[in-house]
Amino acid sequence: MKIDLTGRTAVITGGSRGLGEAMAKALAEAGAKIALVARDAQKLEGVREAIRKSGGTAEFFTGDVTREADVARVAGEVTQRLGTAQILINNAGINIRKNLVDYTLEEFQSVMDASLTSTFLMCRAFVPGMKGTGYGRVINMSSIMGHVSLPGRTAYSSAKTALLGLTRALALELAADAITVNCISPGPFATEMNTVVMNNPEANAQFLGALPVGRWGDAGEIGAMACYLCSEMAGFVTGTDLLIDGGWTAR
Ligand code: NAD
Repeated sequence: MKIDLTGRTAVITGGSRGLGEAMAKALAEAGAKIALVARDAQKLEGVREAIRKSGGTAEFFTGDVTREADVARVAGEVTQRLGTAQILINNAGINIRKNLVDYTLEEFQSVMDASLTSTFLMCRAFVPGMKGTGYGRVINMSSIMGHVSLPGRTAYSSAKTALLGLTRALALELAADAITVNCISPGPFATEMNTVVMNNPEANAQFLGALPVGRWGDAGEIGAMACYLCSEMAGFVTGTDLLIDGGWTAR
């Protein structure tokens, strides 16, 4: 079964690297026009060029997705250059690993803002364009840390759990418009976010020990899941969460 997203414009936050880059490449391969959003123009340009070299269509837009004014500007630019977006992937996020008593308020808020506030702002900016078109897809990147947790993850788990709630509520608001809203909850993937764990032999062994499949996830595996959720086949999948975690939460 071939997934065809030709004619769809897809906005992907945090599209400059890691899982966002992988989803952007997968959706481009399926025919979608890609709007990459992040802060680092140089990295965004690299991803845009890689997509173009493979025959895809991509543009990049610099902005901090936790800032209302940046999101409003980016929304205008995306529509002008790539047309109305019908796919939105809220993938940007950060993690600060430390115990609650060591957190500053600014650090806590920055973790919440990067995942949760950005998703609120992006949905508010892009969902109106999806209405009335008979198709829309919103994917929010939660985490296994929205289901289970570890020490040092109070802010991250709070943000990722909150995304599950936002997703359910928004899915209900948009169901009659044929706009689906879902989460993807990855387990440990080998991206820059996890280099601190992967470079620490003890922590790396602990993570691998908790992974029944015995390996880190490969970013390309998220791309396939995102393509499925964006396909016409997935129109009945809404308000839910797809775990892709190598069995981490099954234990
Ligand atoms: P990453 O750190 O490699 O990439 C994060 C991306 O988000 C980068 O492009 C970064 O520039 C962007 N970003 C962060 N804050 C931003 C802001 N304020 N404005 C604009 N862009 C911003 O992370 P990743 O591993 O690719 O993770 C992507 C998403 O998946 C995150 O939400 C993360 O929490 C989630 N996740 C990752 C894993 C994993 O194992 N890698 C597991 C579970 C969930």
